[in-house]
Amino acid sequence: MATVAETRMARMPPVFAEPHPQEKSLTALRRQADACERCDLFKHATQTVFGEGPLEARVVLVGEQPGDQEDIAGKPFVGPAGRLLDECLQEAGVDRTLCYVTNAVKHFKFERRGKRRLHAKPNAGEIQRCAWWLGGELELLRPDLIVALGATALYTLMGRSVGLTKERGHILAAANGKPILVTIHPSYLLRIRDHDDRTKERQRFISDLKSIGDQLNA
Ligand code: SF4
Repeated sequence: MATVAETRMARMPPVFAEPHPQEKSLTALRRQADACERCDLFKHATQTVFGEGPLEARVVLVGEQPGDQEDIAGKPFVGPAGRLLDECLQEAGVDRTLCYVTNAVKHFKFERRGKRRLHAKPNAGEIQRCAWWLGGELELLRPDLIVALGATALYTLMGRSVGLTKERGHILAAANGKPILVTIHPSYLLRIRDHDDRTKERQRFISDLKSIGDQLNA
């Protein structure tokens, strides 16, 4: 049976149904996002962490939200999960220069434990409000392929709850027909304690990422 959160999320509009900003440039959109107060997450984070990559990127990789290091640097995927993503992309033979990386939610949500700031999952309302920015990025970039890294990205892109485990490795069609490759977020690999399990899951992730090349060359 669906949880209350899943039921609420299932009612949310898809990212592509969001009214897209009028701005014609990614720089202008980024500047607007820097001042965003559409939800409360801006109050405690250091800064907005907008997407990065070439305007002509053929692939857009979408994660959940910036982590502690990304929040401080103001750049997406520069922490441990980002470095792991870069390694796995390279092993999958994906040209990183063709990729734009971003997140479904642009501010770091966390809980304080002493001096540490621990990741906290964004709620349905925060995801919904922030979908405005991802919709704008995708509208301007118009990539050939979008990669959903994890459940939050997948939900945001599909606009409905989709089983990540069931759809992992598959290409789904977004509401606007764009292909979406489904896989895990690299932070999942960092949480696996057992060495053999982690190695196995890493290879599986690389195998998922190899579909990027297959899709672009199809
Ligand atoms: S998380 Fe997104 S919607 Fe919320 S304030 Fe930040 S940029 Fe705006």
